Amino acid sequence: MRLSRYFLPTLRETPKEAEIVSHRLMLRAGLIRQEAAGIYAWLPLGLRVLNKVCAVIREEQDRAGAVELLMPTVQSADLWRESGRYDAYGKEMLRIKDRHDREILYGPTAEEVVTEIFRASVRSYKDLPKNLYQISWKFRDEVRPRFGTMRSREFLMKDAYSFDFDQAGARHAYNRMFVAYLRTFAGLGLKAIPMRADTGPIGGDLSHEFIILAKTGESEVFCDRAYLDFPIPPANTDFEDVAALQGIVDAWTSHYAATDEMHEADAFAEVPEADRLAARGIEVGHIFYFGTKYSEPMGAKVAGPDGIERPVHMGSYGIGPSRLVAAIVEASHDEGGIIWPDAVAPFDVALINLKVGDAATDDACAEIQAQLEAANLTVLYDDRDERPGAKFATADLIGLPWQVVVGPKGLADGKIELKRRAGGEREAVAPVDLVTRIR
Ligand code: ATP
Ligand code: MG
Ligand code: MG
Ligand code: MG
Repeated sequence: MRLSRYFLPTLRETPKEAEIVSHRLMLRAGLIRQEAAGIYAWLPLGLRVLNKVCAVIREEQDRAGAVELLMPTVQSADLWRESGRYDAYGKEMLRIKDRHDREILYGPTAEEVVTEIFRASVRSYKDLPKNLYQISWKFRDEVRPRFGTMRSREFLMKDAYSFDFDQAGARHAYNRMFVAYLRTFAGLGLKAIPMRADTGPIGGDLSHEFIILAKTGESEVFCDRAYLDFPIPPANTDFEDVAALQGIVDAWTSHYAATDEMHEADAFAEVPEADRLAARGIEVGHIFYFGTKYSEPMGAKVAGPDGIERPVHMGSYGIGPSRLVAAIVEASHDEGGIIWPDAVAPFDVALINLKVGDAATDDACAEIQAQLEAANLTVLYDDRDERPGAKFATADLIGLPWQVVVGPKGLADGKIELKRRAGGEREAVAPVDLVTRIR
């Protein structure tokens, strides 16, 4: 992609309204633009990151046995009356009336809709287990939308819902998502710690929040440092192996880790002092087991081997991709700008032409772009007629993992410069060696 033809509205000035570094950098790097309080447009570069985050999430949801669908964002109030949550949900719900004066709403979550879909067709324990997920926009009229996409009113959520015949099955479904979440956050280059959590308005009795430690995090959390070095379950983990998954979850819950609502000072005091970590964190994921809370009032029942119908046991599992983009920036940046982890980088390489209009340099850049793209690397080619200083600043700001700098001086020696954005290391390489150096 040529930058001259792309849409990358970067900002030189730091926007005043942005209180935290991720919000500042996401605005400055032209990833997002606020259209109304807590409502953002995802500009082309930001959308590429968001899509990459979703790709990692999808891969791990699919691996764990969940099945993707897409439910409507606009839901009927009547469905929420069936579960009893329409009045209980409160002001965070955006309530709308259609032209016939019927009450509808923009979904803040989708337990009711998915339960309705399930009950319409599933009848027997033989059809279980099931886990259905979607990645879709949610709306919550947050009292204090802030920090950009970290806490917005319209935001993207991956929400999965599991259906099992009994509690033991539901526990396995919960463990599947627990392990999928460990792999998802690690795959995004983040250290997320599962912490015992309150179940809030969704209800239920087994719940973990996945928390990334960050000074600017809105949650107060308490945990054992040991978790920071725990191994992530490998890609070939057998999600059908009930005992193996339980073993992973047991290990990952064997030390102290709790959010402030669930914090027990006495238990925390038993953690060796050097390992005690009281910090702030960002909630990036949340998993719940809530039994028959929705299936019972909404009549989502299946017949067991004895022919008797019982309400199914359910759980729900959320991840915030739009919040995650901000959390990744919060965890990975320097004075110059963003440093994208490879897995979510919007392009792999920033190709910088130091002398646009010089035929030899232009030709070399075109050849290098073709060579990188042939090796399946994505390239953002800065072909603008700008000073080198401005190009370097843009490349650092937008944080692509590699910078390839091409100018007449280097070319005269048969060399171009390769810079790793993360560590800042530079080396002179021959164009033919570029792909092997990057891979
Ligand atoms: P919070 O405590 O931050 O308000 P929550 O507990 O209300 O979040 P959940 O209902 O557990 O959120 O939703 C699942 C996930 O959706 C959260 O873990 C988070 O990653 C994401 N999320 C929730 N609210 C927002 C928001 N306002 N903006 C961006 N992402 C959000
Ligand atoms: Mg909330
Ligand atoms: Mg929360
Ligand atoms: Mg939550």
